[in-house]
Order: sequence, then C-alpha cells, then structure tokens
Amino acid sequence: MTQTNRRVFIGRAVAAGALMGSLRSQAATHVEDTDEQAVALGYKHDTNLVDKAKYAKHEASQHCANCSFFQGAKGDEWGGCAMFGRKHVAATGWCMAWAKAPGS
Ligand code: SF4
Repeated sequence: MTQTNRRVFIGRAVAAGALMGSLRSQAATHVEDTDEQAVALGYKHDTNLVDKAKYAKHEASQHCANCSFFQGAKGDEWGGCAMFGRKHVAATGWCMAWAKAPGS
C-alpha cells in the first residue's frame, strides 16, 4: 500500500467510524415521560410510577421488556417501540398499549 493509499484508507475509516457513532447516538434518543405522545399513552420510564387510579388494569409485572412492541434485545436497558417512532423506551417502562410478548 502506498503512502497516499494508506492516508486515503485511514481517512475513510475515520469518517466511517464517525458516521456510525453519529447514527448510533441518533438511534439512542430516549422518550421523555413529558413528551406529548408519552403523556397521551401514560408512559413512564418506571412501571412502578404508573398512575394506578387512571390505569386500573396496569400490573407491576408489566413493563416494556415483556411487551410485544419492544424492539430491544433481551437485557437491553432501552429499545425501540412501535408507539414512539425512532425514540427508545426504557425496558422498565410501561404505557397503556402494553401487550404481553409471546413467551414472556
Ligand atoms: S407499547 Fe409496550 S414497549 Fe412500547 S412503551 Fe408501551 S409498554 Fe413499552
């Protein structure tokens, strides 16, 4: 590899790494409890903080990690959710759209 080719290769590798880091950080945007959609769905980062008077069918055992809409992998603290577009929800969270995931 010539000196010029090596510089080009290293420059592209650095640019690709920066792009991947940027994409990862965009994907990791978290929903806030105060977001309009979160308020509308009664979403809380912590299932134990759900308004029990308002959501009488809520149970403490229900959380995003065992919801069929959660797109994170097992053990992930945050993951995507069909209800919140590109924003991530907490594995410990809950909203009124909760539906038991198969096998959970
Ligand atoms: S739909 Fe499921 S994964 Fe999404 S926020 Fe509600 S409980 Fe969590």
